[in-house]
Amino acid sequence: MIIIDGSEGEGGGQVVRNACALSLVTGKPFRITNVRGKREKPGLMRQHVTAIEAACRIGGATCEGVSVGSSEIAFTPGRVVPGDYHFAVGTAGSTGLVFQTVLMPLLLAGGPSRLVLEGGTHNMLAPPFDFIAKAFVPVLRRMGAGIELRLVRHGFYPRGGGRIEVDVVPGKLEPIDCLDRGALRSVSATALFAGLPFDIAERELKTARQLLPDWPEAAFSVRQLPEEQGPGNALLLEAEFEHATEIVTGFGRLGLSAESLAKTAAQRMAGFLASDAFAGPYLADQLLLPFALAGGGRFTTVKPSQHSLTAADIIGRFLGRRPVFVQQSGGEHVMELR
Ligand code: AMP
Repeated sequence: MIIIDGSEGEGGGQVVRNACALSLVTGKPFRITNVRGKREKPGLMRQHVTAIEAACRIGGATCEGVSVGSSEIAFTPGRVVPGDYHFAVGTAGSTGLVFQTVLMPLLLAGGPSRLVLEGGTHNMLAPPFDFIAKAFVPVLRRMGAGIELRLVRHGFYPRGGGRIEVDVVPGKLEPIDCLDRGALRSVSATALFAGLPFDIAERELKTARQLLPDWPEAAFSVRQLPEEQGPGNALLLEAEFEHATEIVTGFGRLGLSAESLAKTAAQRMAGFLASDAFAGPYLADQLLLPFALAGGGRFTTVKPSQHSLTAADIIGRFLGRRPVFVQQSGGEHVMELR
């Protein structure tokens, strides 16, 4: 039994999700104490409960302590059974985080699966659908994974109601090197909004234009979604390189001005563009699991985040090999497995 102190390192929900995925793939049971110990409201929230329940369903696992507010869980994996699964996160919990939990076990299972996930598709502190589809999944496809995904309906906090569908065709994950992102091919800034005043989107784009002065006028656009999918707003900044795509997202919320949301997102994108890294900070922590399960490969990234360092620790506990980040003279870091 692997015992994890959930308050160590980054101390958030990713510890739980990665542990579930790794447990299903390796067959090793685990227990986490002090679940999400570093969060303002520690313990499991609804979306973590759904993620663990999803892991239990696909993997015939038995678990203890899986309820909202719980600070200790135990998980004993069974056999992963591919098939059709439908998981509803309830409120606007993130569908992307449930996807993160079950993807690797299903990819390494013995047959195809179809997932229907309902909840939020563009939530703060979680990978939005666009990021999963354009930044994360293409790297997995290069490793040999068969993944197709569709956004059927957007879901924003607090209403939720979004829906994504995923087809997974299993296969062996091959180690690949992602050291060079290649030349910049295109950029875009999309202000997504539903059921909110139009000027929010316009103000976001105005600020983004000022901070990304090299981006052509045609790169900036507003996308208005049907009112019943709202209220909701996100600014998506996308940079497509030859071998990698980065998406920086600003999530609208009450009390945060359109200008300040756009400023933070644009500054983050400018920082990434100024680096030479293949993966931004979020993509880096999300690629650790597939690279570790592939048993090799490398990618370049910006300075590793707490999320990445904690994910590397958890991976090391289950697999024996561990992602490390080696700083290069140019400032980037190379992730490799030791
Ligand atoms: P946690 O905070 O432990 O629940 O983990 C959050 C997860 O969501 C991590 O895997 C992050 O990489 C990912 N994430 C958070 N915000 C974003 C974002 N804006 N874009 C892409 N991924 C994100």
